[in-house]
Order: sequence, then structure tokens, then C-alpha cells
Amino acid sequence: MTDLTSLTLAEARDGLAARSFTSSELTNAYITAIEAARALNAFVLETPDLARTMAREADVRIARGEGGPLGGIPLGIKDLFATKDVRTTACSKILGNFVPSYESTVTSQLWRDGAVLLGKLNNDEFAMGSSNETSCFGPVVNPWRRDGSHTSLVPGGSSGGSASAVAARLCLGATGTDTGGSIRQPAGFTGIVGMKPTYGRCSRWGIVAFASSLDQAGPFARTVRDTSILMRSMAGHDPKDTTSVDRAVPDFEAAIGKSVRGMKIGIPKEYRLDGMPDEIEKLWSQGADWLKAAGAELVEVSLPHTKYALPAYYIVAPAEASSNLARYDGVRYGLRVPGRNIIDMYEKTRAEGFGVEVRRRIMIGTYVLSAGYYDAYYLRAQKVRTLIKKDFEDCFARGVHAILTPATPSAAFGIGEKGGADPVEMYLNDIFTVTVNMAGLPGIAVPAGRDVQGLPLGLQLIGRPFDEQTLFSLAEVIEQAAGRFTPPKWWA
Ligand code: GLN
Repeated sequence: MTDLTSLTLAEARDGLAARSFTSSELTNAYITAIEAARALNAFVLETPDLARTMAREADVRIARGEGGPLGGIPLGIKDLFATKDVRTTACSKILGNFVPSYESTVTSQLWRDGAVLLGKLNNDEFAMGSSNETSCFGPVVNPWRRDGSHTSLVPGGSSGGSASAVAARLCLGATGTDTGGSIRQPAGFTGIVGMKPTYGRCSRWGIVAFASSLDQAGPFARTVRDTSILMRSMAGHDPKDTTSVDRAVPDFEAAIGKSVRGMKIGIPKEYRLDGMPDEIEKLWSQGADWLKAAGAELVEVSLPHTKYALPAYYIVAPAEASSNLARYDGVRYGLRVPGRNIIDMYEKTRAEGFGVEVRRRIMIGTYVLSAGYYDAYYLRAQKVRTLIKKDFEDCFARGVHAILTPATPSAAFGIGEKGGADPVEMYLNDIFTVTVNMAGLPGIAVPAGRDVQGLPLGLQLIGRPFDEQTLFSLAEVIEQAAGRFTPPKWWA
């Protein structure tokens, strides 16, 4: 039998339906792959027994013809999603060995549709980061290496475990969350596809909150089609999340292969940064050429407030984080460090439980929300946010269907290479992605080429609200032209 882990999700789904193999066989192949790849540190919890049980149950349902859209498909779940009876930590010491008594809406929909849980995936602590180096479980290693080098590279963040696991074929797909780029940037760094849906498309219920007005769950997979399949199961209205939008969930897979002829694609001139590496510039024009060859029309557009997006994001996101993270006080769950009195206990618990980056965000957040500074920082950032959103609205009002940009300003960098002395160096990774969260729009990252050292590079497509289908159609055109990217297996 061929190596089952080399199949795409769509191929595995069809193979299962045709009874060419069972979910138990497929799941066992992935469990073996995960055990051989511990050097990547992608999983923070492996659940092989649960996976085998779920796979057996899926096989029974498939045999009855009731497998469901994801019947028997093994997936990995970012450790930010609450999973019932399965430890959930947000990769923070402060959650300790927290075991939720409930399931997040998004994951419950995956299990409803027949998927199998392989385990929980590493991420930056509370999803704060762009390299997966802030996790209390240690950094994740990117399965890609520079040609001829053994240097360990970051997979991007914060969903670094998800990206690394999918790229290294340790699962058929994975969930991620994206507050400022945490799905699209790691997808770009690992040569896979990642979609951040429109704000409100997926329920945030049961996902550990970082910045509630920006957070959105989305899928990772190795192909555009596979990503669209996962998206359909993850999306949908949920009365338990008041920001979830009551709209029908389309059959996203139907968008694959649809003609993009006549579509107007915007190229925002503000995304052409000074000192941008040549190869990113080249990748970008190559992507534009591929879309043009498929019949799309390329137009230059202007998003004039882009330059304020990163500073505004790094006010809004920490402000919301400082409020959301106030609940971790050592009283109800997670870590507790005893103190002389209750205040001392709070302080000791929070000082011990939160890592450096999380503490920095809480301090920035409380500062920008404090009485004397609220108007100067938080309020102003919110106004900038409105202007950023309006830039996109103006652009779409002129008939633009989607916007093409690079996904990241560089390829993956080395572990420990960035942000040590200056956190802003790390924040600059999100330069092409944060605007999309600020405006609540959908965005997809799709691999499009390699840099001179052989590392994958991605392009981003940004769409109109609730028009993820157009992004899937366009991304597939790029995928068809660029081919797929698989890292040589050095870890097993
Ligand atoms: N890198 C960004 C941050 O650290 C975005 C993280 C995310 O999208 N979760 O805030």
C-alpha cells in the first residue's frame, strides 16, 4: 500500500469512502509519523488512544454510509481550542493542567462531521508571537531547512505547531487562530495553505481569547481544496458567540476550479516596502502574472492607512488581551502560587504563570487603557482601525474582487534569530497580515515559490467580507501554477 500520509485530505476522504483503506489504518499511519517527528516539537499532547477509538467509530459509521464530510480524517488541534476531557493550556504555565469540561464550537463541528483527534498542537503562549518561540513547551521547529544547512528555523507563529505538523505530514489538516496573522504567516513559512475567514464566520466560543475583536479560527492544510473542505465544517452560526454571524455556510469546495476570468485583482502600492527583498517582489509579480494568465484583470489600488496598521494593532490587541487575561488569577483553575493574602497570591501567580511576552502585552494593554492615556492611544488606534477598514471598502466599492500581496516580508528565520533585543523586530513579521484582522476581512496564504536558499514563500489574497469562495478560486490558480511544496524528511 502507498504511504497513507502522502495522500491529500480529499484523496484520503475519497479512499475511505471507496473502502480502499480504513480510518484505523490511516490514523495509525499518522500516529507512527507523529512518534517519529518529536524533534519538531509540534504536538504538546498526543492522544493516540483517543484517536484509535475515534477512528474505529468512524469506520463503523463509514461502513453504514454515514461517515460525514470528514469521516475518519485525522486532524491536529491548536492548543488554544478547548477540547473536552483533553488538556488545553494555550501553551501557558498559568493554565497548568487545565482539562476543560466542554468542547469549543469549532472542534465540536469537526467531530460532528467525523474527524479524528490526533492531539493538541504547540503555539505561542496565548497566541502572542510570530515564531512559536514564546510557548511554555519550547519552540517548534520548521520541517524546512535552508539548502545545505542544519540550522533549525521557526515555523512562524502563533499557530506554529499546526503549520509544522501539516507541512511535515503529521496530520491531514489542523486548526489555527489568526488575530494578526497567526494562520497566514506560519502557512507562508512552511509552504502550506492557511485561511483566516471573515470575522464572525467561525465561532470563537471555547477558544482561549487573546483579542476578541480580532481573533478568528481557520484551517491549515496542504492544498487549497483541503483547506476549503475543512472550512465548511469549521464555519457556521453559533448563538453562544454573539459576534458569530448568522449566514448560510456555502460549499466552499465548489469554488475550486471555478473560472477567475474577468475578476479584478488589486495590487496595493503601499505594500511595496522599502528594502523588501527582491525575491518577494518577484514572487508577487509572478503571482500577478499567473492570475492574469487565468483571465483576471490586475489593477493598482491604494490603501493609504496601511502604514498605521501595525502600530494601531499593537495597541488594540494588547488592550483587549490585558482585559481578557485578567481572569487568570489562580482562584478557579490552573496554576496557583500561595501568598500572604489574596492580592499577594494573585501577584505571585501571575508573575510566575505568564511568560515575558505575555507580561509585556498586559503592561502595554493596561497602559494604553489607563485614564490619562486612553484617548491618546486606545481611542486613536480605534479611529485608525476605522480608516483602515474604509480603505478596503473604497477599494471593493470600485469593483475589486480581491487583493494580492506577499504573505510575509521574508522566508522563515532561525530560532533565536529575531526579537531578542527589540520586540518590534518580531512584530514587523505581521506587516502584511494585521490590516486584514483590523478590517475583519478574509485572507488566505498560498505557497507560491522558494527563496534563494530553498525556503518556501507564500502569497496572500484578501477578500470581501464573507467571500471566502473567491479566495479559494484564486488561490487554486496560484497553486496550480506554483505546484506543491514538500520538505525533505530529515527528522525520521
Ligand atoms: N504576531 C501577532 C501577535 O503577536 C499575531 C498573533 C496572532 O495572530 N495570534 O500579536
